[in-house]
Amino acid sequence: MVRYLITPLAPLKGGILLSWRHVIAMTINCLLFFSNEISGQQYDLLIKNGHVIDPKNHINGKKDVAIAGGKIMRVDNDIPTAQSKKTIEANGLYVVPGLIDIHTHVFVGSKPGKFADGINSVSPDDFTFKSGVTTVVDAGTSGWRNFDLFKGQVIDRSQTRVLAFLNIAGSGMSGKPTEEDTSDMISDSAVVVLNKHKDIIVGIKIGHYEGSDWTPFNRALEAASKSNSPLFVECHLPQFSLEDQLRKMRRGDILTHSYEQVAERMPVVDEQGKVRPFVLAAQKKGVLFDVGHGGAGFWFSQAVPAFKQGLVPNSFGSDLHRFSMNAGMKSVLNIMSKYMAMGMSIEDVITRGSWNAAKSIQREDLGNLGEGSVADITVLSFQKGKFGFIDAAGKKLEGSSKLEAELTIRAGKIVWDLNGIAAEPWTQ
Ligand SMILES: [Zn+2]
Repeated sequence: MVRYLITPLAPLKGGILLSWRHVIAMTINCLLFFSNEISGQQYDLLIKNGHVIDPKNHINGKKDVAIAGGKIMRVDNDIPTAQSKKTIEANGLYVVPGLIDIHTHVFVGSKPGKFADGINSVSPDDFTFKSGVTTVVDAGTSGWRNFDLFKGQVIDRSQTRVLAFLNIAGSGMSGKPTEEDTSDMISDSAVVVLNKHKDIIVGIKIGHYEGSDWTPFNRALEAASKSNSPLFVECHLPQFSLEDQLRKMRRGDILTHSYEQVAERMPVVDEQGKVRPFVLAAQKKGVLFDVGHGGAGFWFSQAVPAFKQGLVPNSFGSDLHRFSMNAGMKSVLNIMSKYMAMGMSIEDVITRGSWNAAKSIQREDLGNLGEGSVADITVLSFQKGKFGFIDAAGKKLEGSSKLEAELTIRAGKIVWDLNGIAAEPWTQ
């Protein structure tokens, strides 16, 4: 605090003196801080008695989580309620990092039949918080030509943190013939836009190309290499063999729709139920496998044998869009519950839904509950009963447990509260 009081009077790096208005504002902030200190309420919010799972910090047990100024201030055994302005009782609930969905299509606009600036995309806030998601990554719905429109129209206006893979196709998912135009796939232009928005654009995407020329794939790979970021491969590349795609992919590149069984891409599991050796070799090399459930991207006929043979997804991308949200996919939590029904532990599904997803997009500031991190937090109920989970083929897998988002906190602010656990009782 001492440093805080002194710095307003000192010149800043560029030699600019702070105005008195700034000095007064900072002094008021300090006084507020001290008054909170005197009252003992240094935290804005305290989540008590929840079972915290924070894979990055190796925490898996009953802890309290204290938040102030939109950040996580303390995770400890017994933080007194008197130290917080507000306390939420989370006994019997899981307290985990805000979930990260690395495959969505959220460049919503008014164009009929389009994903880019169109009605096939969806508005992130409409779906995220109710399923415990605080960060989404748009999977190349925009390209270097229309990223600014996407940013102004959606990213800057959403409460959800919206990040993006930039499509190598200049206008993103604008449909044919634009999406097939190789002359518009310019890696240097993509890199320029990525570097300008390094805080938002996390990588390059290739997908939805029907030609047999490898130019789009190579250009995308070139842009990803030049920007030291991952390549996100969304298939829909019917002329390219899966083996060749995986051979070209580098450690840290991401394949999505990993467990699809469709004509346009060879499935990862062969007709005898075995994961193809070149797929396992790619996994060993460090290629990451994302679910990318969507409307056609997740089949139990692939996912179950793959899971049993160790081809486990690194992340639970939903491929959220207008046509997937009400079918088998439903939400990231539904995908996580599917994996619990297949035998994955809750610790493991939380790891892949948060910390692993953050690492895969090189955003290690996210997906964890470390002290000083942004307070993106999800409080989950673990429900027991008889549940059914549906895949892209319309087939059902039964399970005995399901996760539901009780409370979602984005940068310290409560943005979803299913049963009012943070609300005061109504009195007449
Ligand atoms: Zn997609």
